[in-house]
Amino acid sequence: MVFRLVRTILRQPVSHLSKLAKYCFKSTADVVFLDCSMPCEVNPRFVLLYGSQKGQAQSIAEGLAEVAEEHGLVAELSCLEHTEKYNLEKENAPVVFIVSTTGDGEPPDNALQFVKRIKKKTLSTDHYKHLSYALLALGDTNYANFCNCGKTIERRLQELGAKQFYATGYADDGVGLEVVVDPWLDGLWKAIKGALSKMASDRTGYFNGEAGDSPKETPDSSLPDVQLNLLSITDRQNCESVGGSVETVSKSAFAASSSAPAAQTAVSDLRPAASAGSPGLASQSHGTASISTSAPETQTKDAGVSRVILASSLKCSLPPLSESSLNVPALPPSYLDVSLQEVDTMEEIIGPFNKETLHEVPIPRAVQLTRGDSVKTALLLELDISAYPMMTYQPGDSFDVFCPNRATEVENMLHRLGLYDQRNHRVHICLCKDTKKKGAQVPPYIPQNISLLYLLTWCLEIRSIPKKAFLRALVEHTGDSVQRRRLQELCSKQGTADYNLYVRDPSLNVLELLTAFPSCSPPLSLLIEHLPKLQPRPYSAASSCLTHPGKLHFVFNVVELPACSGRPAGRRGLCTGWLFDLINPVLLFPGKDESSGRMALPKIHASLRPNCSFRPPSDMSVPFIMVGPGTGVAPFIGFLQQREKERLENPEATFGETWLFFGCRHRDRDYLFREELEGFVSSGTLSHLKVCFSRDDQMEEEDNNSAARCRYVQHNLRLSSQHVTDILLKQNGCLYVCGDAKNMAKDVNETLIEMIRTELQVDQLEAMKRLAGLREEKRYLQDIWG
Ligand code: FAD
Repeated sequence: MVFRLVRTILRQPVSHLSKLAKYCFKSTADVVFLDCSMPCEVNPRFVLLYGSQKGQAQSIAEGLAEVAEEHGLVAELSCLEHTEKYNLEKENAPVVFIVSTTGDGEPPDNALQFVKRIKKKTLSTDHYKHLSYALLALGDTNYANFCNCGKTIERRLQELGAKQFYATGYADDGVGLEVVVDPWLDGLWKAIKGALSKMASDRTGYFNGEAGDSPKETPDSSLPDVQLNLLSITDRQNCESVGGSVETVSKSAFAASSSAPAAQTAVSDLRPAASAGSPGLASQSHGTASISTSAPETQTKDAGVSRVILASSLKCSLPPLSESSLNVPALPPSYLDVSLQEVDTMEEIIGPFNKETLHEVPIPRAVQLTRGDSVKTALLLELDISAYPMMTYQPGDSFDVFCPNRATEVENMLHRLGLYDQRNHRVHICLCKDTKKKGAQVPPYIPQNISLLYLLTWCLEIRSIPKKAFLRALVEHTGDSVQRRRLQELCSKQGTADYNLYVRDPSLNVLELLTAFPSCSPPLSLLIEHLPKLQPRPYSAASSCLTHPGKLHFVFNVVELPACSGRPAGRRGLCTGWLFDLINPVLLFPGKDESSGRMALPKIHASLRPNCSFRPPSDMSVPFIMVGPGTGVAPFIGFLQQREKERLENPEATFGETWLFFGCRHRDRDYLFREELEGFVSSGTLSHLKVCFSRDDQMEEEDNNSAARCRYVQHNLRLSSQHVTDILLKQNGCLYVCGDAKNMAKDVNETLIEMIRTELQVDQLEAMKRLAGLREEKRYLQDIWG
């Protein structure tokens, strides 16, 4: 406290000091007045809080904290769940929130408690009236409830009296977070300084007697923590008086820098002239790393022959980018020391390491559900979970599958890093002693005493898409100047479109990148610093325990990523490709007899991932609608199997109507569960089955008399508009959507708004509100992926 107070005092006019001291100490005699003329630059502070599910919000916050000092500020960084590190109830410095949204608009796990706390109805409307905040919300418009966590926090802060000092940024991962994050971070520094200045002048007013003189009039409890943080002269020069103003954040992407070099010179080794300035993902601010060198020539000389590059690719760009000055992110500070130790023997872990929470389950049956000529390959796997009662699941639950990285890719990576011969060495990781990274820690998901081979196989997501900060770090390890320039372009503001086109959209991975940039030789430590944890893949249960006791079914498409610039041949998704190879020897095709059973059953590691809301209505009389094209039908097979059992066991009970909207490409190639679904209709378990085929030419006539062309589920929904809206708006029913997040879920959402608008004769906004209301009531539920 003394340190804080001294810090505070140092920035006070002498006339204020005795007043301040009076509040904090019994007598001014307790206070040692320091000579205010002594050179003591202590930067003003702000609080930086993040809530992050996959690490994006965290890495933006960490990047921000890292460069705060360059902006003359001290960032007090903390995760929202570490409540011992911050105290918003007493906070007088600006607070910056960076929060992502997960699942169906839920807060990330580490922000859950915070959101619960601020949502308490008992909090008064002036609870946070002392608080000045700015908020950056991360989300993905492919999913419903875009940026919902950020919006919830924002709404509550305002309801509780907090003042916003900078307009909220809503960054969309669907188009690239940086489109919003970059300019938002750029403007943040000025806004923080403006807020500090305003808060300081408010307090100066207070100390000048605008507030009462008596200590009693000051909230005593907050006094020891009062941080006046008046701006230093240099800070003041940088900031404008904000008078509570809020700056707007442009959503538009950046135009290329106008400072293109006048004369072109040959590509040189581009040192990031001023690599200071911006945090990992984005901000450039006063430390803009403006590289005033020329672009690579679009005419290259190959064996003496001039060749004009007509198209850009992962490896080369075209003007204007190739000729532009670049704003590149600051170099992320390295923070890990990694060494490899030769050991005689090592107790090697086999399979994933967190075995206590996982179950190794056999796969007694694997069936290909699609015909050989179908565009997609859908497989159904049956897991034998009879040995694990704790894996008992409900329809709507999903479970995680833990798969290793592909052995050939791990091997290639080892070769590429020049570490193949050391693959069985023990990896030792510790923090660099003098790292500048705030909150640096050894990744907690990497266990002790593992080999390099194990690290790359089970711990790191080597398939992950390299972020811009990673590209920036790779520049430092790239020898060839043309390749350095291209990597700089890809991580620059000006190169955002190329980054999206060649890295993000095709899901390029680091190995593919290293192959395209052969002069890049990163150390192992860099990979550990930048590659995220290898994540399990969730799958929805496609069965009911009542129908299949001790068994769990799931269905998936084998993901095929096409060839692209930087990837000469297509590749399969990690988990779906691995599962496909694993079960291939025992795979059954429709019509093929059951296997002889002599083959050893493949096994996988899995754990249950209960979903508390995506469940059939507990009241069996409530009608419900299911929308699940393709593999999105999976959980509804579980719903219907359960309903079938319930009907058998409760012959007297009243059951609500059930509707299923299913769609696929071709009736005879990829109509998943066709027989089972038609069986549900025959038995009365499924009241209405609406199916459409997007690539069959015939008019859709099935189950409705309309000659309209129904290609997608939303078209069929619209045809049943009156029934659907009746169920939702008059009969208190539910609607579930499962499957592709990118297009289908959005289209269905828009169609529902349109239907409500038409049926209720209300305007768009009102229709949206009604749908949002259904979501709040958990009667419109989504389980979507992609
Ligand atoms: P990765 O190697 O991780 O590559 C995925 C890349 O391929 C991404 O860049 C992505 O953009 C792209 N991609 C293309 N098509 C798809 C696609 N269909 N799904 C995901 N990524 C795609 N999948 C099912 O097939 N059946 C299910 O029942 C199912 N249930 C899920 C439930 C939940 C709660 C969640 C979050 C996801 C679910 N998924 C389901 C998706 C699944 O977890 C995996 O993401 C998917 O199988 C791809 O994994 P992969 O390792 O093979 O691909």
